[in-house]
Amino acid sequence: MEPIDQEKKRVEELTQLLNHYNYQYYVLDEPSVSDFEYDRLMEELQMLERKRPDLKSRLSPTSRVGGMIAKGFRKVVHEKYMLSIGDVFNEEELVDFDATIRRLTGLEQVEYMCEVKIDGLACSLLFHDGELDIASTRGDGSVGEDVTNNVLTIHSIPVHIEDKRDLEVRGEVYMSKKTLALLNEARKKTGENLFANARNAAAGSLRQLDSGVTAKRKLDAFWYYVPDALAMGFTHHSEALDYIASLGFRTNPERRVVKGIQAVLDYVHEYHDKRPLLDYDIDGLVIKVNDMRLYDTIGYTMKTPKWEIAYKFPPEEQITRVRDILITVGRTGRVVPTADLDPVRVSGSLISRATLNNEDFIREKDIRIGDYVSLHKAGDVIPEVERVILERRQEDVVPYTFPTTCPYCQGELTRVQGQTYCQNEHCPSRKINKLIFFASDMAMDIDGMGERLCESLFNQGLLRSTPDFYALKEHKEEMMLMDGIGEKSFKALTDAIEKSRHNDLYMLLCGLAIPLVGKKTAIVLADHFQDLDRLMQASVEELSLLQDVGGITAASIVNYFQDENNRADIERFRQYGLNFRLLNPRKEAKDNFFKGKRFVLTGTISVPRDVMTKRIEALGGLSSSSVSRKTDFVLVGEDAGSKLEKAKSLGVTVYDEETILPMLEEAEKSQQE
Ligand code: NAD
Repeated sequence: MEPIDQEKKRVEELTQLLNHYNYQYYVLDEPSVSDFEYDRLMEELQMLERKRPDLKSRLSPTSRVGGMIAKGFRKVVHEKYMLSIGDVFNEEELVDFDATIRRLTGLEQVEYMCEVKIDGLACSLLFHDGELDIASTRGDGSVGEDVTNNVLTIHSIPVHIEDKRDLEVRGEVYMSKKTLALLNEARKKTGENLFANARNAAAGSLRQLDSGVTAKRKLDAFWYYVPDALAMGFTHHSEALDYIASLGFRTNPERRVVKGIQAVLDYVHEYHDKRPLLDYDIDGLVIKVNDMRLYDTIGYTMKTPKWEIAYKFPPEEQITRVRDILITVGRTGRVVPTADLDPVRVSGSLISRATLNNEDFIREKDIRIGDYVSLHKAGDVIPEVERVILERRQEDVVPYTFPTTCPYCQGELTRVQGQTYCQNEHCPSRKINKLIFFASDMAMDIDGMGERLCESLFNQGLLRSTPDFYALKEHKEEMMLMDGIGEKSFKALTDAIEKSRHNDLYMLLCGLAIPLVGKKTAIVLADHFQDLDRLMQASVEELSLLQDVGGITAASIVNYFQDENNRADIERFRQYGLNFRLLNPRKEAKDNFFKGKRFVLTGTISVPRDVMTKRIEALGGLSSSSVSRKTDFVLVGEDAGSKLEKAKSLGVTVYDEETILPMLEEAEKSQQE
């Protein structure tokens, strides 16, 4: 047997992981790991690829600019590539950067422009005849998204300028710390997911299909680059910035031209201290060679210019003690442990709670009550426990035993697919969280019905189960006695509840909180059955045939509808006149190459596999995980293994990504027409 090539295996693992994180960060604007963790994995991959160039794939995340194009936006091709910036994490690496620049230019001392690295997203503005024509995001570097209407909501952007030449100006759209804090506070009240950091908040706000939403998010921007400055007659980057400032563009006042590396290091020290005082987030500093005539001599890599470098601040980390581990039981009965901590200040805010995700997370990190842990804020909002400081562990600290019974109802806890659940439908913690979820925008979207209100109504006995929402209008007197509820807010609330009676079927299905049924599955169920009563009759076999519904989920759905209490709730919904039918059937896929074809994806492709699968499915393709005679084609990426072998042995057609992509794009185009 051949020995396993561990390095090859790790490169594959890292590639897949980083592609997945890129998708979450750039497409969903919802990272699941900290930038620190991401950068650490990227460094590891770069190191392995340097050591083993044979393992480096053409589409490796180390050589691609991260972003991707979200659906729904018009594409804009950048005339000049919008590159990323190489990064360094300590002062020695900055000194090395300067040494390289001096070697390449032959200069003894280099003049640099030092700038703050604003934590937002890059944006390009194109002006024709003195008027703003197109604004776009960076996208994958060569093609971005047209966000002109959204950018127009940023008041500081000049839409008319004196210079009538064709002009491109690039910069960073961002959200101030204050706006982010207010936005997250409001989202917390309504039970919505919080933005992990300023960058994701800005990206999520600028990349909205509805510019009305963008306008409400109060974005701003700083402009830091003129790609054609040399051709326009400027020799230095600083001159170009002064010029655009004179045209009315907002340029960053913290920028400074300095000579030599020592002055750069002084700037770095100064901004370590100044960072918390700025009213927007920065995740580092950008050091640029000021004389643009040297740029071609210094050159570029595939992904970054070599004449600038980003110095990234070390993550903000604090050590604190775990006072307790608290257990909450969510709407589906999922048990989530949270660390109760001695309060510490991280990136300016006081942290006393951090999620511990699940039992395995606690076991793998061996987190115990009484331990000192290093706490690290991912971006600027979600606190994370990185590791236990073992040197500070006291002798009397004992391993944590995860509960086996529910702390709220004493029901037995069971493990399903790595998570722990309280199976008791009547558990009070489950009930409150069910109510909160039902009203949230992830389900029935009842405006004004936030977490605290749901909890108080539950404690008052006015809201015990989800159908009770529709009886609240009969409890005006009791509700008016509650804090914060007056004539006007009572009316607004009951109006919002009434309105939700007409929601589409999938929203109600989400709100039922059937274990293992999230929004995606709810949509599949609504599309297929079109009517709640038909879904309630479905068997495990019938449900398992649906895409995305496995055997366990099918059984969970059938169990749910067999439960007498759940059936009684549904009857009450019927009496209150809730809509049980699909209102907006999904668009049928037009005839195209992919429609009705069974396909299997295998190997590493340039985008996360689930993204590619969804694109093909949207065109009517049917994905499956194993190759059989029924498979119409197999899409193979790099290093495909046994599935490729099987496809060959069965004579199934095999395509690579380069063949499929143009076909996919064409079919998508005609689908939109
Ligand atoms: P980057 O954000 O590290 O640096 C390049 C960007 O800096 C530019 O595109 C520009 O938008 C911005 N910038 C801000 N101020 C600037 C200034 N004064 N001058 C020039 N540019 C300025 O690089 P990237 O490729 O956009 O993103 C990669 C980084 O994003 C990673 O290092 C990581 O920290 C983070 N990331 C995190 C995850 C995650 O899951 N947590 C996933 C992907 C990327």
